[in-house]
Amino acid sequence: MASYSQYLTKEKEDELRAIAQAIVAEGKGILAADESTGSMDKKLKPIGLENNEENRRLYRQVLFTGDDALAKNISGVILFEETFYQKTDDGTPFVEVLKKKGIIPGIKLDKGVIPLAGTIGEATTQGLDGLAARAAQFKKDGAQFAKWRCVHKIASHTPSHLALLEVANVLARYASICQQNGLVPIVEPEVLPDGEHDLARAQKVTEVVLAYTYKALSDHHVFLEGTLLKPNMVTPGQQYKGTAYSHEDIARATVTALQRGVPPAVPGVVFLSGGQSEEDATLNLNAINAFPGKKPWVLTFSYGRALQASALAAWGGKPENVAKAQAVLLHRAQSNGAASLGKYQGTGEAGAAAQSLYVANHAY
Ligand code: 13P
Repeated sequence: MASYSQYLTKEKEDELRAIAQAIVAEGKGILAADESTGSMDKKLKPIGLENNEENRRLYRQVLFTGDDALAKNISGVILFEETFYQKTDDGTPFVEVLKKKGIIPGIKLDKGVIPLAGTIGEATTQGLDGLAARAAQFKKDGAQFAKWRCVHKIASHTPSHLALLEVANVLARYASICQQNGLVPIVEPEVLPDGEHDLARAQKVTEVVLAYTYKALSDHHVFLEGTLLKPNMVTPGQQYKGTAYSHEDIARATVTALQRGVPPAVPGVVFLSGGQSEEDATLNLNAINAFPGKKPWVLTFSYGRALQASALAAWGGKPENVAKAQAVLLHRAQSNGAASLGKYQGTGEAGAAAQSLYVANHAY
């Protein structure tokens, strides 16, 4: 068998391990605020704002400039390229605002989901060309971690072997390039919630996706201690019509899938919310952490919709609502921080927090 020289220096490994551990420090998770310019339509149009650069900046300013207490439960924020170089009204770069609060800036490095020819509506994710140079530049400009989102679709004939192989390989290539440039890669093979499938099918597909993912990461010599996994929770399809599942059922299916597919060397699993209501995302995370059994990783959140929806509604694009919106975001962050420890006391909030955030075939 061939032997391989260590492709990362000991110093690089130590640096990556420390960043990953800081992101999943006790009671903390990630705010995903990296919606691409196009997908910001889904946020700004419903509140009557034009999707332009200034309105996108104003919205992110609301998210990033509230009470410093946010850093108790938010360790990192994922930014889109445009946002990464934007500034507050007084000219302070967002990256500096976050760093001053003790929040680690991260960058979305993928360039979006594209069709995988010859499959039944499956996709891969583009963005590998020039990735090393981009990763190096973002590291220089203050990013410490990165995200790359791939998606799988559950239907009668999917995911296919081709899609499983391609997605795992592109994630592994991205992860390797990130690590060589000092960025902790968040590896995100999302199994979409679209479909009529039950919980058992979602669990099996998630297990298979994880198996392909970690085989490819191993093939590409990725240093697992310096990575984070961003999976879907295992939930029934959005169009599933059978008996309802409890938070405990979802927790059991999710933890079992992770036990079968995620090596203990991975320091943390940061779930996406995937169209669950804010409150469901919190209750399910809490149930996952309260679930008995082997859990050798930190299990926490990296939510987009489930951290922003009611804060966005509270803001409504009006300057007089900024403080209110920031308080709502802080409340959600605190609730999810508690849930990441299995200590969330809420029993299901009503109102905006209970509304489904599902979007068919969601793009980021
Ligand atoms: P949601 O929590 O809205 O699913 O998104 C998280 C994310 O960053 C997906 O890439």
